[in-house]
Amino acid sequence: MRLTSPSTIKYIMEKYNFRFSKRLGQNFLIDNTTVENIINGSGITNNDNVIEIGPGIGVMTYDMAKIANKIVAIEIDNSLLPVLGETLEEFENIKIINGDVLKLDINKIIEEEFGGKFPKVIANLPYYITTPIIMKLLEENANVTDIIVMVQKEVAERIVSKPSKKSYGVLSVAVQYYAKASTVMKVPRSVFMPQPSVESTVIHLKIRENPPVKLLSKPFFFRVVRAAFAMRRKTLLNTISGGNLGINKEQTKELLSNSNIDSIRRGETLSIDEFALLSNNIYKFVNDVEN
Ligand code: SAM
Repeated sequence: MRLTSPSTIKYIMEKYNFRFSKRLGQNFLIDNTTVENIINGSGITNNDNVIEIGPGIGVMTYDMAKIANKIVAIEIDNSLLPVLGETLEEFENIKIINGDVLKLDINKIIEEEFGGKFPKVIANLPYYITTPIIMKLLEENANVTDIIVMVQKEVAERIVSKPSKKSYGVLSVAVQYYAKASTVMKVPRSVFMPQPSVESTVIHLKIRENPPVKLLSKPFFFRVVRAAFAMRRKTLLNTISGGNLGINKEQTKELLSNSNIDSIRRGETLSIDEFALLSNNIYKFVNDVEN
């Protein structure tokens, strides 16, 4: 049975009385080359353990199982469990977990299923929960080495964006603080069934072993980043002093100058290092911390 064939999906729909759920973002890949390119692009080897989020009918799971050491696939839709039982029956290195990835303790699964060895995460997810899932994995310090994920094209542009680009924003800084982000490939709408309304891009997040910059307070850093991007057309002098960070305009001017940042610059021009230096300087000032 070729899983990427539309006739296989039709067979599954009839045999299991399966109906696509729009709510669960069920757009299944029906193109072999795309599946191969995603898997090749992920660099999975026989040494790797993999967590797949949202296997669907198992198109990517099937091809990955031939390469990877072990796969744990997390699928929310229990009507797909008997389907996966049939499509993946020849493999002994796959475990299916029925659940909502947002509610699961990923590090516990990694400990129990892989003995603590850090896996790679692969996912082709519903677009509306891609960012919460990526941020959950990053912020909760999931013990994973890489995240290879298909996201809406525009979200991919924001995630991999560099300073001074229109797409550079809070999401770029938030993701790139935890990971090195790059684009793997673009994916047209035509390779899905049913076709989604947006174009997709596969991105690769290589998790950093150490953060790129030392922060005095991570929550405060993100408050400064959010303030800087809150009004994109305004200067840092205005966004930072108006950002409820506990400093007035004069103090902001001085702290920007101490951080070697021109106060007429806009937030979108700041690198992660500059955000870190600025937020550390403001944090020290408002908390009266000695240098
Ligand atoms: N990987 C398959 C493919 O490429 O054909 C299916 C991709 S489909 C876009 C997304 C899959 O994620 C569906 O199977 C859906 O049921 C599942 N899903 C949706 N929300 C989920 C969640 N919160 N946790 C786990 N799986 C989820």
